[in-house]
Amino acid sequence: MGYFKKRKCLVCGIEFDPTNTKGKRCPICSELNKQEITKKWISKNKDYIKEYQKQFRLKRKSEKELKSNKKEVKKCQMTLKKQS
Ligand SMILES: [Zn+2]
Repeated sequence: MGYFKKRKCLVCGIEFDPTNTKGKRCPICSELNKQEITKKWISKNKDYIKEYQKQFRLKRKSEKELKSNKKEVKKCQMTLKKQS
């Protein structure tokens, strides 16, 4: 027995035991609703996410370049040593 009366889900109409007074959807639908909210948030903030990903990629790229530069420097030092 739950604390709250059984309620009908707003979305699918199935009776469920609400876990709180605000619950209007069954667990499945509320989970789907969460995903829907996330999707909506993503579509609303596409530009923000794109910008964020761009920055992230740029950062990683520069880090990689830095590493490869270091490798190049080492190679140069090696060849210089060999030549001398
Ligand atoms: Zn439902």
